[in-house]
Amino acid sequence: MSSPVAQKVSLLGLDHEALVQWCAQLGEKRFRATQLYRWIHQRGVADFDAMSDLAKSLRAKLHEQAQVQALPVLAEQVSRDGTIKWLFDVGQGNAVEAVFIPERDRATLCVSSQAGCAIGCRFCSTGHQGFSRNLSSAEIIAQLWYAEHTLRRRFARDERIITNVVMMGMGEPLQNYGQLVPALRTMLDDNAYGLSRRRVTVSTSGIAPMMDRLSQSVPVALAVSLHAPSDALRDQLVPLNRKYPLAELMAACRRYLQYAPRDFITFEYCMLDGVNDSDAHARALVELLSGAPGGARQDTGWCKLNLIPFNPFPDSGLKCSKPQRVQAFAQVLLEAGIVTTVRKTRGDDIDAACGQLAGEVQDRTHALVRMQRQRQPAALQAAVQAAPETGPAMAPGPAYRLETNA
Ligand code: SAH
Ligand code: SF4
Repeated sequence: MSSPVAQKVSLLGLDHEALVQWCAQLGEKRFRATQLYRWIHQRGVADFDAMSDLAKSLRAKLHEQAQVQALPVLAEQVSRDGTIKWLFDVGQGNAVEAVFIPERDRATLCVSSQAGCAIGCRFCSTGHQGFSRNLSSAEIIAQLWYAEHTLRRRFARDERIITNVVMMGMGEPLQNYGQLVPALRTMLDDNAYGLSRRRVTVSTSGIAPMMDRLSQSVPVALAVSLHAPSDALRDQLVPLNRKYPLAELMAACRRYLQYAPRDFITFEYCMLDGVNDSDAHARALVELLSGAPGGARQDTGWCKLNLIPFNPFPDSGLKCSKPQRVQAFAQVLLEAGIVTTVRKTRGDDIDAACGQLAGEVQDRTHALVRMQRQRQPAALQAAVQAAPETGPAMAPGPAYRLETNA
């Protein structure tokens, strides 16, 4: 029997224009849609009865036809360094994670776009799980909605807490383009989260044609997961490279730059011991990033390189490069004039770092892994039991600092 709730429109998934359209077919004016949108996203209100300036007749229609539905939280973990990881239930045995990363001058939310991921990168825990399904735009925004308003309540803050969003959680955002775009629009909308395009980053393993589409619809900041300077090696690490090899990817990056809100693209490079971390790899990377077709040198100011120490997960069979190796590798790039940073690992005591997000995913692609996952209900059950109650017991440790916007 299908529940009537299932047929209600999930308002979290509608961007401002879509909400205006939806309200119009209820006979409501544009400004009513804007009021509703603000109640939901700016004030975190899900209960239509609490939306005091909406007419009773509209509230009745909303009750009948719509819902603002939070994702059930299966678990919350708070790291010593203030990082918070939430595990959200997205139904049918699937769960995804979002991570809140507070820093001195910003607070970033890392958001998931899919349950699992079909790209299958060699060094990524999510990739090892296989793909289950795309998240809806409502499920993508629900992560931000929950995090922002839960933290505001918890820290008794009226103003915005999350200053940056990175689509670097589970999944390949550009393989879920149709649901990603409305969610990005809501992140940017002044009547919702009001983040600037440079403070919202889409990270991709390199789906070249979708990078072009993104540049035309919502050109937010772009991060490209590179991980190798040659096709031979990248084919091994990021299987998608066989479809969109480096020449094609680099050309798409150059095109994106014409629309990028910052004047650069960030390349991510996961440092794997003995795999992609030699000086020769670094020199090849300089060649790739600075060499124009025909061998002429171009300036290197169009990109930044972010070296990510590999975050291990069970059965990966890979090791992180030694810190001295990471430094030596960075030195080669810096000497070539490429702005290079080494990413700090955050939340390592709660497995919240890049590529460690595992959630629980009904694997529909890898038969072998699927069989191993027969134990999943028990694992999920354990996660539920481990979930702490919200309230004072969840107050973050002393390491937690919130930016105070003077
Ligand atoms: N699918 C997108 C975004 C999610 S992954 C992408 O691949 O870009 C976010 C970043 O974490 C990517 O750069 C990814 O390559 C990196 N990553 C994945 N697994 C990792 C691991 N085990 N250690 C360090 N970084 C990892
Ligand atoms: Fe998917 Fe990104 Fe992980 Fe690759 S690194 S498997 S694209 S989530």
